[in-house]
Amino acid sequence: MLQSFWRALLASAPILLLISSAGGYWVSRRALRPVDRITATARSISIRNLSERIPVTSSGDELQRLAETCNAMLGRLESAVNQIKQFTADASHELRGPLSFTRTVAGVALRNPHADPESRSAFEDIADEAAKAAVLLEEMLTLARADAVTFDGVLEPVDLTAVVEEACGMARPLADARGLALEVSCASEQWMTVLGDFQSLRRMLWVLLDNALKYTDSPGQIDVVLSAASGQATLMVRDTGIGIAQTDLPHIFDRFYRADPSRSQVEGTGLGLAIAKWIAEIHHADLSVASEERKGTTFQLVFSLCDA
Ligand code: ADP
Repeated sequence: MLQSFWRALLASAPILLLISSAGGYWVSRRALRPVDRITATARSISIRNLSERIPVTSSGDELQRLAETCNAMLGRLESAVNQIKQFTADASHELRGPLSFTRTVAGVALRNPHADPESRSAFEDIADEAAKAAVLLEEMLTLARADAVTFDGVLEPVDLTAVVEEACGMARPLADARGLALEVSCASEQWMTVLGDFQSLRRMLWVLLDNALKYTDSPGQIDVVLSAASGQATLMVRDTGIGIAQTDLPHIFDRFYRADPSRSQVEGTGLGLAIAKWIAEIHHADLSVASEERKGTTFQLVFSLCDA
């Protein structure tokens, strides 16, 4: 009897071991599922969606306390970030008044025919610097509004051809003055309507054109190509300019980032592409860049076309 008991025990031991391991694995997976949820939510939270929270289960255990602690920390972070955003928006807004006053006073002083050459040159410097600061402030204000996430423009059907024509119309005299050839090619027979805000789209294209103009030496070429296929419109701005180093490429959409060679040669704020990226995001468009130093740069925007 003892022998047959041993035999039965030996035969059933592996099966029992297997069942208990599988059971243990299943129980631990179930118990750790909330941890996976916490990890996934924590990974998806960035500065853009700080108001999101980790789901809390009322299990009364350590996992509930962990989720609650993370949520409390996110709450504190969100309010700190909001304060910083509000400060940037308020400061940019408040500085507009004194700055436009400075520009006006410098302009009035420059109109004085009796001003001596020294004062005239000083007032010219003041007017120039105030104009640059005004551009910087305006861009900071745009980004501060962008951070507020709510986009206050209206998205309606916009013909991309009209956007290209208007922005390129603004760029052409500058290209001529700089000795650059500006070639525009629009597949005009195709439906090129996207859901968007005309002014914002024009501004985004202007950022790309302005950069192409700034970072291309004469004789150079700028191509703007608008095409459509499979329900998508592609807008490309290509230049034969100084190009961007591979180490700079991942950062050029960051705020205030300027690739080194451009800082010394060309004036800018380092905010243009951050604004362009934000405008692309609100239009659900994909903005990408490819570049080779001393060969040129291509920015590409891909939009979903809205139905005809
Ligand atoms: P900036 O006011 O400096 O032009 P942007 O945000 O528009 O700021 O661009 C960020 C940086 O990306 C620029 O300082 C420049 O180094 C680089 N860059 C952008 N567009 C081009 C381009 N077409 N050719 C070469 N470099 C470019």
